[in-house]
Amino acid sequence: MRRKVYICLLTIVSMFALSSCGTKKNESENASPADDHLQVVASYSVIADMVEQVGGDKVSVTSIVPRGTDPHSYEPTPEDTLAIEKADVIFYNGLNLETGKGWFDKLIENGRKEQVTFQVTEEITPEYLSEKGQETQEDPHAWLSLENGIRYVETITDYLIKVDGKNKDIYLENEEAYIKKLEELNQTAHEKLSSLPGNKKVLVTSEGAFKYFAREYGLTAEYIWEINTDTQGTPDQITRVAKIIKENDIPALFVETSVSPKTMEAVSRETGVEIFETIFTDSLAKEGTEGDNYYDMMKWNIDKISEGLSQ
Ligand SMILES: [Zn+2]
Repeated sequence: MRRKVYICLLTIVSMFALSSCGTKKNESENASPADDHLQVVASYSVIADMVEQVGGDKVSVTSIVPRGTDPHSYEPTPEDTLAIEKADVIFYNGLNLETGKGWFDKLIENGRKEQVTFQVTEEITPEYLSEKGQETQEDPHAWLSLENGIRYVETITDYLIKVDGKNKDIYLENEEAYIKKLEELNQTAHEKLSSLPGNKKVLVTSEGAFKYFAREYGLTAEYIWEINTDTQGTPDQITRVAKIIKENDIPALFVETSVSPKTMEAVSRETGVEIFETIFTDSLAKEGTEGDNYYDMMKWNIDKISEGLSQ
């Protein structure tokens, strides 16, 4: 009896051993083609998506800041350090986004990756913060204009080719198709937003993230606080924006997916103007939901902003 139990146990143990061997083998089989992929790290989800659009199946992309999380201030994890160590190329926004709080610089320095780290906003003419004492600080939200988004894609393509020249033709082909799509959407955005009457061209959000968007599409961007990581939603800030909303008879308010809606709800109560819709700024939507890539996020913003302000 004892012996039978023993044999039985042995069988179970060896079955486990076999099955775990099998699992390992499959994993390594799956992993080996991935090893040929260019390992790319992006600081946040918008850049990660652009790299995937251009890189297609030649790249494997990791975003440091997860979707739905604010990239202005972020606490890197041990997994982020590992991703940086493995990376062949690293892309970041710059213009005071990740660098505002220094979290990204530390990650790159510790991983000694300065040589393969590239700023995607190199070709962008920066906007600056307007609040007193902040005027020399660049505003990071350049991707919210499609014109700038296209510059991001061109810069990303140039650097992918620089580090992985053998796939140049594929990157150029993907870039061309992607930029064509973005240019068409940009055209639509200009048509929709320029047809708004003059007194409807004020966009109110929580963070003042829409400077580049406003410049590109001829709107005025108003906000409760100018940039995340500042003091967010003080009584003075609420009073200031409520006055602007009432004076300009603004028809709709918007709140961003990556901030708490609480302060904008307070502004809505104070002014009697409704929050028309949630829009995207610093993060793509969760995968599989509306707005989970740059093109769709921009299309959503353009559609909702023009609908809300047309009321
Ligand atoms: Zn922001």
